[in-house]
Amino acid sequence: MSWEKTRHRDYKCPCRQSTYSVTILTDDWNQSDERWTMNCMTCKKNYAIHSFWENDSGLSFEVKYWIKKEILTSLEDNENHHKNLMDGAMEYAKKRYLNQWLGVFQNIRSKKQIWDVLGSLFSNQPSLSAFYTHVKNEGIDAYLTREFNFQNLENLLLHLKVEDSNMIEQLFKAKNQQSEVLQIKKTLIKNRFR
Ligand SMILES: [Zn+2]
Repeated sequence: MSWEKTRHRDYKCPCRQSTYSVTILTDDWNQSDERWTMNCMTCKKNYAIHSFWENDSGLSFEVKYWIKKEILTSLEDNENHHKNLMDGAMEYAKKRYLNQWLGVFQNIRSKKQIWDVLGSLFSNQPSLSAFYTHVKNEGIDAYLTREFNFQNLENLLLHLKVEDSNMIEQLFKAKNQQSEVLQIKKTLIKNRFR
């Protein structure tokens, strides 16, 4: 399999003093690939390539942009921080409240009733028939343990009537950090260049 150069174009770089090149390569199977090369020394120091996934009538494809390296670094740092806070909150929550959560469903005999309770608590529940399939395949406890996740944590703690200031604080720290990450992603989109 060999790549063949099918198109080559130069575009103005972000600082507009020089250019970057885009080469389109196509192989024997008609797959194509884009190679981007920065020709500007200043922009090479300050920018990196970042891919975004975009959708067009059901097809998703990767679109490349130049992004300031400092924004990418800040995104990475904040995402790591967010992940650590979520992991910490989940570890604490599981240790103290997972058994209590599983206990809620111990005396509910019908699967349909369990599905009703989950549907009233979380917005991300599957259809009843999909729920039956999941439960049949993995067992009810495994399913309920999987629902004990960060996305569901706030509603779950409310349902369990948890009044634990340490737990609540960890949850909200992680949520605030999530907003921080979303802000940076907005900045990223606002400042992307191609
Ligand atoms: Zn430049």
